[in-house]
Amino acid sequence: MPVYKAPLRDMKFLLNEVFDYPGHYQRLASGANASPDIVDAILTECGRFCEEVLSPLYQSGDEQGCSLTDGEVTTPEGYKAAYQHYAEGGWQGLSAPEEFGGQGLPASMGLLKQEMMGTANWSFSMYPGLSLGAMNTIFLHGSDDQKHTYLTPLTEGRWAGTMCLTEPQCGTDLGQVKTKAEPQADGSYKLTGTKIFISSGDHDLTENIIHIVLARLPDAPKGTRGISLFIVPKFLPAEDGAVGPRNGVSCGSLEKKMGIKASATCVMNFDGATGFLIGPENEGLNCMFTFMNTARIGTAIQGVGPAELSYQWALDYARERRSMRALSGKKEPDQVADALIHHGDVRRMLLTQKAIAEGGRAMLYYAARLADHMVEGHTEGDLDKAAKYDDKLGFLTPILKGFLTEMGCEAANLGMQVFGGHGYIREHGMEQIVRDTRIATLYEGTTGIQALDLLGRKVLVMTQGGAVREFTLKVANFARKQLTNKRLRPFAVELLKLTAQWNLLTVRVMLAARKDRDVVSAAAYDFLMFSGYVTMAYMWLRQSAVAVDKLTNGGEDSEAFYQAKLATAEFYYERLLPRAQAHATSMLSPTRNLMQLDAEDMAFTG
Ligand SMILES: Cc1cc2nc3c(=O)[nH]c(=O)nc-3n(C[C@H](O)[C@H](O)[C@H](O)COP(=O)(O)OP(=O)(O)OC[C@H]3O[C@@H](n4cnc5c(N)ncnc54)[C@H](O)[C@@H]3O)c2cc1C
Repeated sequence: MPVYKAPLRDMKFLLNEVFDYPGHYQRLASGANASPDIVDAILTECGRFCEEVLSPLYQSGDEQGCSLTDGEVTTPEGYKAAYQHYAEGGWQGLSAPEEFGGQGLPASMGLLKQEMMGTANWSFSMYPGLSLGAMNTIFLHGSDDQKHTYLTPLTEGRWAGTMCLTEPQCGTDLGQVKTKAEPQADGSYKLTGTKIFISSGDHDLTENIIHIVLARLPDAPKGTRGISLFIVPKFLPAEDGAVGPRNGVSCGSLEKKMGIKASATCVMNFDGATGFLIGPENEGLNCMFTFMNTARIGTAIQGVGPAELSYQWALDYARERRSMRALSGKKEPDQVADALIHHGDVRRMLLTQKAIAEGGRAMLYYAARLADHMVEGHTEGDLDKAAKYDDKLGFLTPILKGFLTEMGCEAANLGMQVFGGHGYIREHGMEQIVRDTRIATLYEGTTGIQALDLLGRKVLVMTQGGAVREFTLKVANFARKQLTNKRLRPFAVELLKLTAQWNLLTVRVMLAARKDRDVVSAAAYDFLMFSGYVTMAYMWLRQSAVAVDKLTNGGEDSEAFYQAKLATAEFYYERLLPRAQAHATSMLSPTRNLMQLDAEDMAFTG
């Protein structure tokens, strides 16, 4: 079984050379302690933890899965010890406020950590990941008392958290939530209902679990305007902060599922469970969606992670496994046959994975800088600043989440393909990556919903195309500056054309949607994918510009490293980016080709 190697070289290239994180951190209040030395030490230490502790549990966790006995969930062997290691190392509080026991480092540091953990072992990373969602919600919407009670044990990793939204009848359309919350004389509420698919709903890693639950008050308006948010602890906290009596919430069963088997996905029953309102009545969805942008960047990591992991393993295999001779003549004449890596088609697969992993990582780090500013706005109480960066991030997050998780699935599949039939056999781990990755396009909003959020809400309704204009202006300004460089000129010219096309497509879709409302839903996926390919092209130009500069003037890395960046950019521009045109054509095709069949005529069976 291969192991994960933290791609520190690429991470540092992006942080230090492409996106100037050292300068960015200097300008942030939370960045005072994020000096280059500290960042370097954290990355190295986190990489070691992921390589030595989490990666070895990846396959065994999948084989064992979680189990439910007498209402209590047990995680696979080794998870508890690994979690203790994680909590004692202070990793959960890396980017959490110091007043609650965190290290107060910028939010982006947390994302770097999440990327490595999620790549080494996505199932494991779900447990602390969900806790972060709960922490953020309480931090932003909780009362002082609630913050005081919950944030420190969550930050220290002694307690964990969950996000309980989905019910059997609804996942996307949360306006249909039925779980009831009845007010009690003491100001608390009794919650009754069933939530399904709840990640980390129960487990044996922490002494308590804090559920953040969407529920409906007795006379609440119908739909999304009648949903409130509650804290429902597994064990009610005692006065002294210790764990008190068991609450009426329990895991009814574990979902049997395709992948991420070491992550406990639970049906949670709330049987008159005591809960505490968080945020204003009937504004639960709004509260839940604050920080959703950061959560979605978190899920976008699940596009980059599998591309990276599957690439690392496929590359090793392609260098060792031999099959036939290269078409251009023997490459390894002393061997019985040439290694797979000498075949053009295998290289197509490997380079696609590499371009997605490194291009996707760049997209994440670009967005993470915006997240730092947004979080700083919230922490400083500067709501205008928070809103400004939330908008910028809000435009990018559906692109990151939707596009990168789709590309992550492609990359994982290609990794399996490089292994031939051996990819389908469990021992190599490649089929596990495919199974684990598949969930990423589904939860935290399916690709279709991300696409609607991007095109329908962010582009058409909220900004009438302004969000695309603002972003493409930035991209085009950068591209224009590269036109004078011979090596970069072809990329820059292509990118300039695409930025103009992106605006034109937006206008054409907007006009078409005025006449035919189905246009938005019909065009959304292609619009999202087009946007993703162009955004990734921008990231490849940013990396190429640094590589050219460093090759001319000398840089931190070897020449081969920078040459490899340019070669991968060339591959991306010439072999992957042309796909954007297929999406453009499809996006503008009439809705008739989708909508003309009556629902009952979609199949003729029986
Ligand atoms: C392993 C796993 C872990 C999960 N973890 C959690 C968790 O921790 N907490 C939690 O609350 N939930 C969790 N979920 C639930 C997950 O977020 C939902 O499954 C997801 O949001 C989709 O909802 P749904 O399954 O009800 O699909 P539906 O909403 O029924 O959607 C079905 C399909 O229809 C499409 N669709 C729906 N509405 C529209 C529309 N208006 N326009 C166009 N297309 C549409 C969707 O894109 C999708 O393709 C988890 C799910 C899984 C499988």
